[in-house]
Amino acid sequence: MMKRPVVLGVIAAMFAVAIAAQSRQPAGTSHNGKAFRFNKVKEGVYHAVGTGSLAVVGNSSFIVNDNDVIVVDDHVSPAAAWVLLEEIKEVTNKPVTTVINTHFHFDHAHGNQVFEPNVQIIGHEFTRRMLLSNSTSMPLYQNYLTGMPGQIENLRTRIASEADPAAKAKLQATLQVTEYNYASQKELKLTPPNVTLTTQMTLYRGNREIQIRYLGRGHTAGDVVVYLPNEKVVMTGDFLTAGLSNLSDSYPEEWVASLDALKKLDFDTVLPGHGEAFTDKAKIDYYQAYLRDVWTEVSRLKKQGVSSEEAAKRADLSKHKDHFPNTAVPPIGTARIYALLDGTVK
Ligand SMILES: [Zn+2]
Repeated sequence: MMKRPVVLGVIAAMFAVAIAAQSRQPAGTSHNGKAFRFNKVKEGVYHAVGTGSLAVVGNSSFIVNDNDVIVVDDHVSPAAAWVLLEEIKEVTNKPVTTVINTHFHFDHAHGNQVFEPNVQIIGHEFTRRMLLSNSTSMPLYQNYLTGMPGQIENLRTRIASEADPAAKAKLQATLQVTEYNYASQKELKLTPPNVTLTTQMTLYRGNREIQIRYLGRGHTAGDVVVYLPNEKVVMTGDFLTAGLSNLSDSYPEEWVASLDALKKLDFDTVLPGHGEAFTDKAKIDYYQAYLRDVWTEVSRLKKQGVSSEEAAKRADLSKHKDHFPNTAVPPIGTARIYALLDGTVK
């Protein structure tokens, strides 16, 4: 006779937990199959790369420590971050206590809002300032967001006229991913870091040392890298990716020097914000060479009186194509370099 109320109580508690979890779930989390592939690069150190079944855009990384988990970057939307947390639970049941934002861009920090208020979100002071101010009105995110309804419309049109069932199904899957992403963007509440740094901060978790380092202006004025000296791993966000980073908020000349500071760290594995993990340090040299040349080339066009839109069409960086398949400079990149040359951004 004593058992029944206990069982009912347990069921009621489970139900309450289910309701609580469900009420926190953002829109747009549905997807088929895994949203992430976890690449384990060292004991407890994972690189999370999107599979394409959900819009995640950037990569994240996570570090499983003795008692907790640290996540580095949290993707493009609340939905993507929520699904990341769900999939991390399949690796470990330890709680995520800490998130690090490598920089303020939407594809790395727009998942911040899904974390409980007691989770420390760490980022550069500049990252906090940007996420508290106008970061969603800046061209990089505006282009992304305002392009979505058109993409959705375009996909619908193509689906309607596609005869091949396999091609149609593929388009339908892309449509769904885009629609869910759009639904999640509508729920966005910019959430800035609640712990900031300006040069360096170190977290200690048992034998693990996690250094958060600002190496100078580059991809933005406040990118940080996450460096694990014992594991010789560095998580670089978009300060160094597997390909070319966007230049929209960059300081290309200073970036070259800041990358020299990165080279001084002792690591063998890079977990970038886009693309696969890599070990080839020569990628830093290739990227520095590209940055020097993009600056010189765009400056040359500006001196000729060419508009920034036209400079984007004419800038020729093709000598870097062995290292970077697409060397085209988007208009947002030439506009940034023009603004720096004009002194309208400092
Ligand atoms: Zn990015």
